[in-house]
Amino acid sequence: MKEELKLLVALQEIDSIILRKRLELKKAPEEIKRYQGPLSESEKAYRREKEKCEAIEKKKKQKELEVREVDDRIEKLKSRVSDIKTNKEYQARLKEIEAIERERSRLEDEILYMMEELDELSGGLKEAESRIGDEKKRLQSLQKELDDKRDLIEKELAELKEQREALARKIPAALYNRYMDVFQKSSGLSVVEAVDERCLGCYMSIPPQIYVEIKTSDEIMQCPQCGRFLYRKEAAAGKSEDSGSKNSG
Ligand SMILES: [Zn+2]
Repeated sequence: MKEELKLLVALQEIDSIILRKRLELKKAPEEIKRYQGPLSESEKAYRREKEKCEAIEKKKKQKELEVREVDDRIEKLKSRVSDIKTNKEYQARLKEIEAIERERSRLEDEILYMMEELDELSGGLKEAESRIGDEKKRLQSLQKELDDKRDLIEKELAELKEQREALARKIPAALYNRYMDVFQKSSGLSVVEAVDERCLGCYMSIPPQIYVEIKTSDEIMQCPQCGRFLYRKEAAAGKSEDSGSKNSG
C-alpha cells in the first residue's frame, strides 16, 4: 500500500476511536437521566402520599378537638342538675345528653377510620422511603462509575489527540485537507476499504478500472459516489485477499 494511504488509514482508525469515545462521553448524562426520571417520579408519588397523610392527620386532630368539646358539653349538662325542676325536664335533659353522646360516638368512629387509613398509608410511605433510598444509592454509584469512566475516556482522548497530531504532521497538507473535507461531509468516515468492487463507505459499485487502480495507481483513489478514500487490504502471505477482513471504523 502507498505510504500516504497507509497514513490516511491510520488517521481514520484514530479518528474513528476518537469519535466513538466522544459519543460515549455524550451518552453518560443520558444514562443518568434515564435513572433520574423514575426516581423523581417516585419522589413525587411519595410527596403526594405524604401530603395525603398530613391532611388526614390534620382532620383527625380537628375531630379530636370536637370530641373534647362534646365532652365538655356533656359534663356541663350533667352538672347542671339544680336547674331541673320537673320529671319532664329531667327526661328532656337525658335525651339531650343521649343525642350528644351519639354525636360523640360518630366522631370516634370517624377518628378510628382515619387511624386505620393512616396506618395503611404509613406502611406504604415507609416502603416508598426505603425504595427511594435504594434508588438514590444506585444513582450515586452509577454517577461515580460514570465519572470514573469519563475521567478515563478524557485521558484516553488526550493521548489519542497527541497520537493523531503526530500522525497528521506526516501527511502532506493538501492531502490532509482533502481528508478533513471528506471527513466532515461523510460523518467521520473518510477512508474505507474497497472489497469486491464495492466501496464499504456507501456500498456502491466501483468501476473495475478504478478498483484495479486503487492498487496500481500512484494516486490515492476516491470513491466516485461518496468521495471517500479507498484502500485494498494487502493479501496476507499464503492467504487469499480479504480473508477475515476487518472493516475500519
Ligand atoms: Zn463510496
